[in-house]
Amino acid sequence: MENLKNLVDRLYDTSHLEKDEYVTLIENRDSIKDYLFSLSSNVREKHYGKDVYLRGLIEFTNYCKNNCYYCGIRAGNKDAERYRLTKEQILECCEVGYALDFRTFVLQGGEDPYYTDDMICDIVREIKARYPDCAVTLSIGEKNEETYRSFFEVGADRYLLRHETADCEHYSRLHPPNLTAQKRQECLYTLKKIGFQTGAGFMVGSPYQTAENLADDLLFLERLKPEMVGIGPFIPHHATPFADMPQGTAELTIFMVALVRLILPKALLPATTALGTIVPNGRELALKVGANVVMPNLSPTDVRSKYLLYDNKICTGDESAQCRKCLESRVTSAGYKVVKSRGDHASFTERK
Ligand code: SAH
Repeated sequence: MENLKNLVDRLYDTSHLEKDEYVTLIENRDSIKDYLFSLSSNVREKHYGKDVYLRGLIEFTNYCKNNCYYCGIRAGNKDAERYRLTKEQILECCEVGYALDFRTFVLQGGEDPYYTDDMICDIVREIKARYPDCAVTLSIGEKNEETYRSFFEVGADRYLLRHETADCEHYSRLHPPNLTAQKRQECLYTLKKIGFQTGAGFMVGSPYQTAENLADDLLFLERLKPEMVGIGPFIPHHATPFADMPQGTAELTIFMVALVRLILPKALLPATTALGTIVPNGRELALKVGANVVMPNLSPTDVRSKYLLYDNKICTGDESAQCRKCLESRVTSAGYKVVKSRGDHASFTERK
């Protein structure tokens, strides 16, 4: 116990531990979690106070050329009803979102070649022209450096690309052979180099995951130093090869969020929808241990129920305004406050 406490103290002081030390903390998390949570919550308050940032999530296409074994919108899922939003529909989502005080729009989708680089650039340019006080985040998968640069040049501010799992062998058990951990990680380094506020992240409890894998994820975050880290539980989707795999737990997910807060004190950490899906107060719990971002859905209601990465996803029936209200009351009940702001990473705010 005392030993565990020393490890957490050292992580707090240095933002680094050895792999076996992370494994020790993860395996003995029950006896150290309260202490960890008190520190992680303090660190978050030191950098961001009680502020929670909103991101308006626009799920603009569920077509995907990839076949990730865990994902409900994988190309191989012939039952998925596919949709794409037009530029005009995306701009309408932004209009609704702006009126609801969103100052970041996240365009997320499957890897859909229908949207050429020029089309994405055109959409980003238009959003930035209409809403110059807003940040645009893209989450559209792996692209080459030139493409990422073109997105940055037209004004995209941030890019989310979860690394999923840092371990190559584990990665290959979650993805078909044409997708590799190495490529994924190279993309992340490229995004950082270009100047995006870059988001990595991983699923907790994904099939075959070990405590060593999670420790490797933490070491990868130490090296990459992303501005954002998305951490959510794996949840099976009925029409995927992982339909019968057990889902991740909220308890371990929350523990990982707290560890990441100590590793990357200024990171933007979302309380994820997946966490809110497996336990009703999952997002509130994440906020209490160090998360500082929530991502209400801004997608048009008629497509909501088609962007299903996993089963039982919450908020698929709500209007954007309802979603926004519901999340605000959750944030308030957890003791925090939603702020109307772009919500940049602290080092990017300082730079401006
Ligand atoms: N195509 C984009 C966006 C992916 S969807 C990209 O490649 O980055 C966003 C995230 O949802 C994924 O990175 C993955 O971590 C998560 N996800 C997918 N399927 C999931 C599942 N079954 N359970 C939990 N999270 C899942």
